[in-house]
Amino acid sequence: MRTITEPAREIDVIHETDVLVVGSGPGGLSAAIGAARAGVDVTLVERFGCFGGNITAVGVEGFAWYRHEKTVDTEGVGREFEDRAKSAGAGTPEPQSDSYALDAEAFKVVADNLVEEAGVQPMLHRAFAAPIMDGNRICGIITESKAGREAILAERVIDATGDADVAHRAGALTRKTPVEEMQAASVMFSMSGVDRKRFIEAVKATRKHTRIGKAASGRLRPPARKTRCSRPSSGSRLKRPWKRALSRRTCRRSPEHGARSMTAAI
Ligand SMILES: Cc1cc2nc3c(=O)[nH]c(=O)nc-3n(C[C@H](O)[C@H](O)[C@H](O)COP(=O)(O)OP(=O)(O)OC[C@H]3O[C@@H](n4cnc5c(N)ncnc54)[C@H](O)[C@@H]3O)c2cc1C
Repeated sequence: MRTITEPAREIDVIHETDVLVVGSGPGGLSAAIGAARAGVDVTLVERFGCFGGNITAVGVEGFAWYRHEKTVDTEGVGREFEDRAKSAGAGTPEPQSDSYALDAEAFKVVADNLVEEAGVQPMLHRAFAAPIMDGNRICGIITESKAGREAILAERVIDATGDADVAHRAGALTRKTPVEEMQAASVMFSMSGVDRKRFIEAVKATRKHTRIGKAASGRLRPPARKTRCSRPSSGSRLKRPWKRALSRRTCRRSPEHGARSMTAAI
């Protein structure tokens, strides 16, 4: 492959913070809000124009499809997201559990409010481009945006990109599941103007024996013996790759730190 040498350049340090969270999905939002509530300066960097990650950029159902009668709930920030969404009209009852599904559009406002209330410094439309290293320590990041390349310095950098972008570019060993072993992605969509009651009745009547029909009539319950997770897609199909991951590790290094792939048996 042909290569070029990128010229060195001086860039502005636009911001300094105690904790810098990169990525604002459920993981990043929780980390940023938790750190800010603990009393440190927190900055949250997100490449897109809204916080929430998959919740708002893609669309999910809810956090707690495992919640049924007698379930012990871990609560925490996830529960807070759900409760806030519910009270803001950004959540609808999730048919397979005692939880609420999150509305992707409306949750953008919920996330903004949570970030603002916690006193987190928001930085949207800024993509992480490279780590700033002090030996083995990450002491900041370089971002790319319409403003060009800029630097943000931090005492602690938390990688919440969902893809370990920061860790990988900093030279840490990371693992990417081979595509054929990845969980199949589902497609979420929302509809408005639907007579929900009539729709559910029709599903119940015409799809009685299918999973969707059982879910609509509340008959899709977790088989307690099989798995504690009540999701229809969970169970042995998901346990297999998990077991495989525990028995063997495939690691990759970023090109800057020597292209190297490693397969290690524990
Ligand atoms: C279609 C679909 C449906 C799902 N449904 C459910 C569900 O119903 N319930 C459930 O519990 N889970 C669901 N999931 C899984 C859930 O969405 C993820 O487990 C969860 O979002 C992971 O959170 P995260 O914060 O680690 O990453 P993400 O949500 O992926 O957030 C990562 C964030 O980092 C940002 N980012 C990435 N790279 C950079 C960069 N270089 N610079 C700056 N920002 C960056 C991204 O824009 C994003 O905002 C679903 C997933 C999908 C795809």
